[in-house]
Amino acid sequence: MNTWFQQTALITGASRGIGRAIARQLAGQGMFVYLGYRSDDGAAQHTLDDIHNRDGQAALLRFDVTRQSRCDEAVALVIQQRGRLDILVNNAGVRDDRLFAMMKKPAWDTVLDTHLNGFYHLTRPVVRQMIKQRFGRIINISSAAGQAGNAGQVNYSTAKAGIIGATRALAKEIASRNITVNAVAPGFIDTDMLAGLDPEKIKEQIPAGRLGHPEEVAHVVGFLCSEHAAYVNGQVIGVNGGLL
Ligand code: NAP
Repeated sequence: MNTWFQQTALITGASRGIGRAIARQLAGQGMFVYLGYRSDDGAAQHTLDDIHNRDGQAALLRFDVTRQSRCDEAVALVIQQRGRLDILVNNAGVRDDRLFAMMKKPAWDTVLDTHLNGFYHLTRPVVRQMIKQRFGRIINISSAAGQAGNAGQVNYSTAKAGIIGATRALAKEIASRNITVNAVAPGFIDTDMLAGLDPEKIKEQIPAGRLGHPEEVAHVVGFLCSEHAAYVNGQVIGVNGGLL
């Protein structure tokens, strides 16, 4: 009996930066990839075209991870169209930096809402499906800031550290169902998220002396989704040029 089936992946924040590279990587590994994003239709379409040009399979899925109802609809649509959801990459993210003493509540709320409530809103319905399937791979994009803390980023560091706690706890809950939950913690990666920062100043802090490429994060995610990573669970893997 031929038991091969094409895996289905949902990646948030797939319109740009690290998420776009992850989408290309997973489509290149043969998966059908849903490209989640919030509002930038042009960038998302660019990612989709890129995947199609490489003979990959993908579809756009515009939804805001801060809204529970939209996350529920997105997961329901994937399951209705594909019958299953094998891979979830929680990658969508924002930053709103300032020193903590100056940080107003909206900057705190937006960052925690996107990363932590976003994780809850989307991962819970996905986990319920993965438990039924008895298979799943969840990869959460954390950050070196969540491991070490970063001045000017108390909100972001809090959110990214929270994601590490969620990763470790959830991995223990559902490992017996053949579901792994891991985190990838990038250092400084060359994307729109670094806009407004001086790359030369950043490079001085990095032992490798350069920014990371989105593809360098995507390769690690690709490995975590592969059959070779079946026994890697509850881990946090840094991709940071030796920063930590
Ligand atoms: P980016 O280039 O700024 O892209 C952010 C992505 O997140 C976009 O696709 C955006 O969608 C999406 N997004 C933002 N808020 C959303 C929401 N509420 N709902 C749905 N989608 C939303 O960022 P990046 O650098 O690729 O970062 C990707 C992940 O890596 C983030 O979690 C970030 O914190 C983490 N990270 C980045 C670095 C770095 O140095 N770049 C380092 C460590 C960790 P639209 O295009 O529609 O706005």
